[in-house]
Amino acid sequence: MYGGNTTCVEIRGDDGHLVILDAGTGIRELGRSLVADSQGRPISGDVFFSHAHWDHIQGLPFFTPAFQAGNHFRLYGAPALLTSLEVVLRQQMSPVVFPVAFDALHARMEFRELAGHRWSENGMDVRAIGVRHPGGALGFRLSPSGAADRSVVFIPDNELDRFGDEAPGAPTRDELVRFAHGAKVLIHDAMYTGAEYMGHRGWGHSSYRDAVEFAIAAEVETLVLFHHEPERTDEALAGQLALCHQMVAERRGTVRVVAASEGMEIGL
Ligand SMILES: [Zn+2]
Ligand SMILES: [Zn+2]
Repeated sequence: MYGGNTTCVEIRGDDGHLVILDAGTGIRELGRSLVADSQGRPISGDVFFSHAHWDHIQGLPFFTPAFQAGNHFRLYGAPALLTSLEVVLRQQMSPVVFPVAFDALHARMEFRELAGHRWSENGMDVRAIGVRHPGGALGFRLSPSGAADRSVVFIPDNELDRFGDEAPGAPTRDELVRFAHGAKVLIHDAMYTGAEYMGHRGWGHSSYRDAVEFAIAAEVETLVLFHHEPERTDEALAGQLALCHQMVAERRGTVRVVAASEGMEIGL
């Protein structure tokens, strides 16, 4: 029911401008739907990478629009991570592991540095923040230009517990709360149960409880539990979701909590 693909989120601006957040295996299905919807017209968009861990890049070689001439994608990474991002994206299409080389893709694939921590382009305001994840990773906040009340915050990999402080350049929890504050939708790492988390401190991921507490503190409207533990069954995930609802009720919170599922759509 929830699906097993790795991280990929599609965002559409009011004018239809396409933004893709991460290129995990979910980008394969996205590619299919983009091709079907385009009816032969060129496809272009911005792809923002939170980081270059495998589960966030491994779908790109299976992204059909990248194989079609006339399409254009701008691949954005943090300046500190961009070189390694480009190297890793090229290496995952090296001849030993993949039959088509990166340079043989027919679409124009353009690597670009993120312009600082806040910029506006293509009718969208975008902000980025370093988060608490081994090796470094980014979170993003996007809204239609001038409509900050319609923000979506995307923090796929982040350790909210104090052990996350040990990540390089880790922001404080308060800084993260301010970054996400008032968002309409917060998509946040919720990988572990409390017990599982105790065995994975320092791995750069959060528990359900920490994600819900964070969403309440940041006063967001909807929390999307994200980056599910790969072994979690649908039943177990539904059980954890129910516990999250119970927790919100106990705190007298107003946040709506849902668990990310394949193809889920949310209006802003
Ligand atoms: Zn990661
Ligand atoms: Zn990840």
